[in-house]
Amino acid sequence: MDKNHLKRDNEAMKVLLVYPDIQTLQFPHFQHGVASISATLKRAGHPTSLIYLSRELEDDSFIQEVQAYRPDLVAFSSTTMQYPFARRYGAAIKSRLGLPILIGGIHATIAPEEVMKDQVFNDLIRAEGEYPLLEYAQALERGSDPSEIRNLWRRLPDGTIRKNPLRPPADLEQLPLVDRELFDNEVLMRENDRQVPLMASRGCPYACTYCCNSVLSELAGGAKNLVRQRRVESVMAEIEDLHRRYPDLKSLIFMDEIFTLNRKWVREFCAAYRGAFTTPFQIFLRVETVDRETLGILREAGLYSVIVGVESGSERIRREVLNRHMTNEQIIRVFAWADELGLETWDFNMIGLPTETAAEIRETMEINRRIRPHHITVTIFYPFPGTPIHERCEAEGILQVADTTSLFLHESTLNLPTISRQRLQELAEEFRGLAMQIEAGKTAQGYLDLTAAYEKARVTSGGPKFVALWQVRISGEDRICLLLHPPSAASYTVAVKPQSLLRFSMAFSPDVWDRPGGGCLYRVKVKAPWRKEKVVFEREFDPKRRPEERGWVDAEVDLSEFGGKTVTLTLETSTPNGPNDYCVAFWSRPHLAQKEAAAIKERRSA
Ligand code: SF4
Repeated sequence: MDKNHLKRDNEAMKVLLVYPDIQTLQFPHFQHGVASISATLKRAGHPTSLIYLSRELEDDSFIQEVQAYRPDLVAFSSTTMQYPFARRYGAAIKSRLGLPILIGGIHATIAPEEVMKDQVFNDLIRAEGEYPLLEYAQALERGSDPSEIRNLWRRLPDGTIRKNPLRPPADLEQLPLVDRELFDNEVLMRENDRQVPLMASRGCPYACTYCCNSVLSELAGGAKNLVRQRRVESVMAEIEDLHRRYPDLKSLIFMDEIFTLNRKWVREFCAAYRGAFTTPFQIFLRVETVDRETLGILREAGLYSVIVGVESGSERIRREVLNRHMTNEQIIRVFAWADELGLETWDFNMIGLPTETAAEIRETMEINRRIRPHHITVTIFYPFPGTPIHERCEAEGILQVADTTSLFLHESTLNLPTISRQRLQELAEEFRGLAMQIEAGKTAQGYLDLTAAYEKARVTSGGPKFVALWQVRISGEDRICLLLHPPSAASYTVAVKPQSLLRFSMAFSPDVWDRPGGGCLYRVKVKAPWRKEKVVFEREFDPKRRPEERGWVDAEVDLSEFGGKTVTLTLETSTPNGPNDYCVAFWSRPHLAQKEAAAIKERRSA
């Protein structure tokens, strides 16, 4: 360690936090653990800053950013998926700046041996990092030896690893409120539709085999130590603070693993919240932890959306592979209650699990058809190191060496004897298509939603995968769309009601805004019986040249003249100036509505 980099006299030790979040397909987000560590350091007088790595940087640029802050200590926090980036940038700091570095976060916690094997980080912190990192900074500041710090693993000069015992999980009431200034609030608000996250508890008492919570629980000496709930008053005080900080906040999301673990607490919270705030909020729940009454109370308090892990529709897979013992009936019931209460629903599903068959994947699709969530996520299973299911995969010899950065994205990292890779890919694609249709159907607009009716469309397309249902986020807003990569068209047979309007929004993927070439021509054509086909809408859309078109641009076409007739309605895209690979043209939720009904709906939503 180069002592020149240690604390300058009379200055508090400056800590730079590095959080890689590269190629995850996630949107910039607030990370509670890092923000809590920063608040704890700041409370003790240590200035902090954050490098949020949302894209891969050249090592030189990264090093320049580090130097610009002149830190005395650099602490990385990394997930398993992001660890290759932490390792790379940690090595760059180590070799070029010689600054003290260490790593914490979930990957260092669940796979410390793997991290130590790499010889990049000589110090790592397992489990919650607030107090261990503070003590570490204080030790460096004093020039004393940090080797005794609990939660620390340290490579000693003789190459052996010192593995210190863990301290009990922190008392949440003793921790400061998370550091909201650490992240770029403007970006977070914009990219997350002005939704602000917070946590009212930490930990989960369940032990799903694929989840790092089962490891954390074991490290904490049991779930009873791991699960901690904040007092309602302190949560309310934080919510008040959030409203002061972000006057334009639109909604809250509680990032607790399971918000509904303690029904008594939920009731108290709801009573306090209802009297003080009207901001809608979203929660994660597990189906066994709620009844109809509790959901109703939450709804009255402002709950608008629930996120539920269904994971598999096969009770055998859930029971024998995932250690999740809820029944399908329980899942179906909770989603039905949510529908009755008008709640938005999200669910997560995994496919490609050990021992899973194609028929069991179909069971998962089937339960989704049954519960019809508003938003469905389908991932190909990846076993996190350190989890029980990872051990099982290893023991069964089905684990492949994988690039962890491809996590959740495309391919299975397992060799499953029950299903081939190709079949799994096909089923994943089918499932994702189904998911979008369920979502479009659930949120159908007008009397005919062309996204929901996509299966009935006749498609002419310029190439494979030119036309599909697609989910895209632009300016913090997720939308299901019809992708019509030019030259392509989708035609529908439609019985047009009197006074009809066709409404839709146009957008290009942000990925191509800065690419070469121009835009494309959006066209709507109608062919009525005994009449020539008529172009009823035509617009060249070009967000590359016209910044005002970078986002969703709404359009409306009056179809009154076709009222009472059955017509062929065609949505078409083309590039009049020749082919252009960088035109990812989306039509968001094209739908037919009637003028009067549309006006009433607008008045209501206003
Ligand atoms: S219920 Fe959720 S948070 Fe708890 S162990 Fe299972 S997957 Fe993890």
